[in-house]
Amino acid sequence: ASLFTAIEMAPRDPILGITEAFNADKNPNKVNLGVGVYYDDNGKVPLLDCVRKAEAQLMEKPTPRSYLPIDGLAAYDKAVQELVFGADSAVVQEKRAVTVQALGGTGALKIGADFLKRFSPDSQVWISDPSWENHRALFESAGFVVNNYPYYDAATRGVNFTGMLNALKEMPAGSIVLLHACCHNPTGADLTEEQWTDVINVVSQRGLIPFLDMAYQGFGDGIEEDGKVVRRFAEAGGPLFVSNSFSKSFSLYGERVGALSIAAVSAEEAARVLSQLKRVVRTNYSNPPIHGGQVVATSLANPELRKLWEDELAGMRVRIREMRQELVKKLKEKAPGKDFDFVIKQRGMFSYSGLTKEQVGRLRDEFSIYAVDTGRICVAALNSRNIDAVVDAIAKVL
Ligand code: PMP
Repeated sequence: ASLFTAIEMAPRDPILGITEAFNADKNPNKVNLGVGVYYDDNGKVPLLDCVRKAEAQLMEKPTPRSYLPIDGLAAYDKAVQELVFGADSAVVQEKRAVTVQALGGTGALKIGADFLKRFSPDSQVWISDPSWENHRALFESAGFVVNNYPYYDAATRGVNFTGMLNALKEMPAGSIVLLHACCHNPTGADLTEEQWTDVINVVSQRGLIPFLDMAYQGFGDGIEEDGKVVRRFAEAGGPLFVSNSFSKSFSLYGERVGALSIAAVSAEEAARVLSQLKRVVRTNYSNPPIHGGQVVATSLANPELRKLWEDELAGMRVRIREMRQELVKKLKEKAPGKDFDFVIKQRGMFSYSGLTKEQVGRLRDEFSIYAVDTGRICVAALNSRNIDAVVDAIAKVL
């Protein structure tokens, strides 16, 4: 027997499995609603003009590719920190925040998890039920016990807020609570401002450690609006972790651009935190790649490119909203008596559609329309050419 003899095949990633089945499907009218990517109305991943222009600027003055500092490009970290907390915020002004460039939102969560395991080893982690499936795996592989707090209520197709708040009230001090800052993945159900107030109060009173995951800033109600919850947590004081990602908002999935920001109580504390965070990065991958960070830093710092980015992001947000509205309107015609109005209230790329596993199976087998077994569909994969076929098929399997 060799080292590998006893190794079992790892379970297939459920979402990548959908894409494999979709790719193998020969039906020319197939639709993949299982993805976690924004497609434009032509069904393509967009290359944003702001990215194209930032890259053109960078090409004019090519730079040698030495290593970046462990915490990444300084201009990137600064721009991201100001985006996440607000340039005028107390945490930024008082230099109490630290931001390190990370390999996408996933990389930010990973270095945050490793950092927390070093300095709060006995904490347990709490994620929403359900959550992005990698949240549990990331924190478990960092060595934490991961629990669920109640979140989605299938009956109301909204948030079981009482259940969530009660769970927060019972967590031991020092528990790490992972919260989706906006555009909850997979449900699309977000908290209201008043509900966030209650969450922030309980988190502060009980001494919980909030970890906000913001992978979809700008896809809900706007860049400012979606980021507001981060600022509110920062104003409440106490330790705060924020992972953010530009995979979706800059359509830079493969460049792996994200960041981890931590708010501390003083500049002196922040300096110590940063020094330790760098050790975590150093032992994971030494330092991040240059290109994506340069593109984002250039776009955020240049007023013209920044405006372009904000407009292009608004375009993506508005298109998704229109698809939500079209979906509901067309389902009203094709499946009268069924209520899909909740789809309009949901935020971000996804919708928990309420479709059962059986219905999802029929969509796939009879219509070549692919969704996640849980009923999650990517609204950003709908477009003016495939929506009628999708609606017809849903109406038939209901
Ligand atoms: N958090 C959530 C909630 C996500 O949905 C995703 C990506 N789908 C990520 C983090 C990771 O983002 P990235 O692709 O930038 O690693």
